[in-house]
Amino acid sequence: MAVSSNELERIADDMYKDRVIRGSVYCGNCGYNLHSLPYIYTCPECGNQYNARPLKMDGIFVLHDTYFPASDIAATLLCAPIVYLLIAGGVNPTDYGWLILGAGVGVVALTFAVKAYHRLPRFFKARSIARRIALEEQEEE
Ligand SMILES: [Zn+2]
Repeated sequence: MAVSSNELERIADDMYKDRVIRGSVYCGNCGYNLHSLPYIYTCPECGNQYNARPLKMDGIFVLHDTYFPASDIAATLLCAPIVYLLIAGGVNPTDYGWLILGAGVGVVALTFAVKAYHRLPRFFKARSIARRIALEEQEEE
């Protein structure tokens, strides 16, 4: 009998429902330390629903988000002038080869731009949460 992934998720959540978090895990919305709270619960400070179960980690602060999306921004800035040159080269006289190439690189540039656009707010939020965590750890020492 095959078990669907939804069923596996439910079983895994059920295994963790009565356990409490032993280490320092932080709310992904406000940075509150969820230590000694249930694995699947609501942040007492901001009401963010989270699931800190391993392999799930929904609504939990992830350090990876604190990295500035420099490569996405750099790729966008690198592709944009190439798109301009390819399309400008294909306009007069009309050369569909350059125009199609320009459109192709344009799609790549747009993909990087959209990625950077979505990662920037996550970066700023994660950075403020990381700052809060660092301040609270300092106070504990
Ligand atoms: Zn919170």
